[in-house]
Amino acid sequence: MTSETVTPMMAQYLAIKQANPGALLFYRMGDFYEMFFDDAVAAAAALDIALTKRGLHLGEEIPMCGVPILAAEGYLLTLIRKGFRVAIAEQLEDPAEAKKRGSKSVVRRDVVRLVTPGTLTEESLLEARRHNYLAAWAELRDEGALAWADISTGEFRVMPCPLARLGPELARLAPREVLVSEAKEADCAGIVSDLRASLTPLARSSFDSQGAEKRLCDLFAVGSLDAFGAFSRAEISAMGALVDYLDLTQRGKLPLLARPLREEAGSLVQIDAATRRNLELTQALSGGREGSLLAAIDRTVTAAGARLLERRISAPSRDLAQIHARHDAVRFLLEQGRFAEDLRDALRRCPDIDRALSRLALDRGGPRDLAAIRNGLEQAGRIAERLAATEAPALLAEAGARLLGHDDLVALLDAALVAEPPLLARDGGFIATGYEPELDDTRQLRDEGRGVIARMQADYITETGISSLKIKHNNVLGYFIETTSTHAEKMLAPPLSARFIHRQTTANQVRFTTLDLSELETRILNAGNHALEIEKRLYDSLKGAILAAAGPISETARALAEIDLTAAFADLAAAEDWVEPMVDQSHAFEIEGGRHPVVEAALKRQGEPFIANDCALTSGATPAIWLLTGPNMAGKSTFLRQNALIALLAQAGSFVPARRAHIGLVSQLFSRVGAADDLARGRSTFMVEMVETAAILNQADDRALVILDEIGRGTATYDGLSIAWAVLEHLHGVNRCRALFATHYHEMTALSAKLDGVENATVAVKEWHGEVIFLHEVKKGAADRSYGVQVAKLAGLPESVVARARVVLDALEKGEREGGKKQAIIDDLPLFALAPPPAPAAPPAKSAVEEQLRGLHPDEMTPREAMDALYALRALL
Ligand code: ADP
Repeated sequence: MTSETVTPMMAQYLAIKQANPGALLFYRMGDFYEMFFDDAVAAAAALDIALTKRGLHLGEEIPMCGVPILAAEGYLLTLIRKGFRVAIAEQLEDPAEAKKRGSKSVVRRDVVRLVTPGTLTEESLLEARRHNYLAAWAELRDEGALAWADISTGEFRVMPCPLARLGPELARLAPREVLVSEAKEADCAGIVSDLRASLTPLARSSFDSQGAEKRLCDLFAVGSLDAFGAFSRAEISAMGALVDYLDLTQRGKLPLLARPLREEAGSLVQIDAATRRNLELTQALSGGREGSLLAAIDRTVTAAGARLLERRISAPSRDLAQIHARHDAVRFLLEQGRFAEDLRDALRRCPDIDRALSRLALDRGGPRDLAAIRNGLEQAGRIAERLAATEAPALLAEAGARLLGHDDLVALLDAALVAEPPLLARDGGFIATGYEPELDDTRQLRDEGRGVIARMQADYITETGISSLKIKHNNVLGYFIETTSTHAEKMLAPPLSARFIHRQTTANQVRFTTLDLSELETRILNAGNHALEIEKRLYDSLKGAILAAAGPISETARALAEIDLTAAFADLAAAEDWVEPMVDQSHAFEIEGGRHPVVEAALKRQGEPFIANDCALTSGATPAIWLLTGPNMAGKSTFLRQNALIALLAQAGSFVPARRAHIGLVSQLFSRVGAADDLARGRSTFMVEMVETAAILNQADDRALVILDEIGRGTATYDGLSIAWAVLEHLHGVNRCRALFATHYHEMTALSAKLDGVENATVAVKEWHGEVIFLHEVKKGAADRSYGVQVAKLAGLPESVVARARVVLDALEKGEREGGKKQAIIDDLPLFALAPPPAPAAPPAKSAVEEQLRGLHPDEMTPREAMDALYALRALL
């Protein structure tokens, strides 16, 4: 063989690699998945494993690395987290088969699955309490649509979604992977990367709506999609692309998808990405779940319940009847007390039915998934019985009804499975004794065989007089008789040599067999294999029985999640003393004794109390706006956010942290904080603040609830004040929505006299011996002063700086009272008493920023070029 030849195996590898571009190829070789060439280099670095070499390809050494099959899931997880996609090529035949075709023949291999972030199903690769969404966005003749699915639970939905809404909707769903047509990649790249999801561009043909309709009809075995509702071409295109991608990644094994549900845009509270981040709904600003609203209120006891809670918090309802039904159910369980605890006990024993079902459907399941379905459905039956014995309100009664109808399946699984089956079907041992007579007989033979071997060993010991003689087993020889070499002579001489046939001599042992032993071996071996075959057959038939009822089983899983969530809300309300909010069609917003659930919990851990506060945005006039002033650290942000969260919790179906709450249906929730740092996206902070504020002013309707915290802070005082002023006027006059507006521009408090419905409120502080004490109490009226100097002192600013700041402040305030001009006052300030800092020894070297600045010629630049230059300068910092 010359160095220029390509080995048959390499030829096969390269062909598979070429057919699966864009993914690392895991190429199965015996007990390893091997990677070659650039894949090996990339994977070795990402996984921190050794990069080795294997043979030559076109005269060059081939880089290689590999992971053992048994540990592959862990490595897969790391690769997926690092943004790789992995194609898994398995051996599709026994190597012996390949040999039969000729000595040069390679084992047939092909990709059986493409592992991508949005298409995971393994327990170890998924977060149990979170969804794993795959989304697809399509645009057809200016009409947009978003489809999404969680293949680990079968949920499948679609909604109209123009490009402008893509960011907010994706922020709500937080998908792991987003599919778009190549032609739209540029439009979506920024939106998707902001969410840290991975973007997968697909060929235009994947989004072809005619092909899509056919794919969907085939998948759901219907003649026309009309059966599921009227979908737009764009919606069909998005759904079709998603199904096409599943087909591609799962290689023809389609997951169990529920029939697509169309989500009506108007049925949910609209919350954009900035508001979600800001209110820390499902993720804290630090990035983790810890510190988020979700973490603070999650009392669900099942993974499916936790996933439902995340969905509800991410998208509260705007449907009054639905909200009331949910509150009725929570109130009922709250009043029942002990009963709800019993339900939760049963729920705790419910495994994750959805995910077990999806693994079974994709043929990636095992006996434990069968048992999960059995245990889950069994508990469902018990819960249904309990519910039926009460006067449960509609939501719970309906959920209870959806738990029933699985008696036959449960009886079947109960009879067939052992209590705690092993993980893998291939090792057997999961079918209960007494279920299948043929299996029992075969197992008996197999197990008896072992007894017979023991008896045979005893007989041979008597016959030979060698007490150390043993019958052993290994993979090469099968069963054999072994004695130490000291007895070899005796065994190899007549009369024993007539019966004991010599097989092997090792350093210390001699091995024999007999005709009886090999006969017995064949029987045992056959029985063992035969038992495994029977179990495998039974596994398939049990799996078939489960999949035949997949629809109703999913329904049951969904009902269990609903019950879990309701009981969790009831538990939360009882433990934290929350009340049922009154939600109606009015424009009211009246909260008495409201609290912030996350801040309250944090304070509780430190043993400090949370001060409850009222908020009333109804002064008879619509719209009503509160203008909140008060020093930093007084609790303005907390107050603003707690009111937004109370509205959100109420419409998510929960009780709320307050003494009393009356909320007129909220359609949109907006929350903005002035000058939030957003260096990651390289935009000026002030620019971000203005872009986000513009979005509110352009979108908020009269049912919106808007929260603005220190808007305008990111620029010079007069600019900032003017902008804040104009924004508030716009909210009041044009958007006409309910709003809470925190500001440190005291000048704005004058607006309350001019605009009907605008009221001043302040967070009270007390001054005591020159120190400021925060009372965290919100009351009507404007703050008398800002206490910035006192707060700075609290923060540990040097005493000399605090003292100097007081002097400057006094002079400024005095001058202002006496009508002096600011510049004159500043010029007249007494000199700073401390020595100036020493001058630097040598002039500092010029920085890159200075160099670049020197090269700019402002008079010759267009505004656009000036902007670009600014960003470039900023990037140098
Ligand atoms: P501001 O926005 O006015 O600067 P924050 O809302 O950030 O103030 O609150 C500062 C701190 O004060 C919070 O971290 C919290 O510990 C405490 N705090 C705020 N509101 C309350 C309250 N109602 N009761 C008790 N402590 C509070």
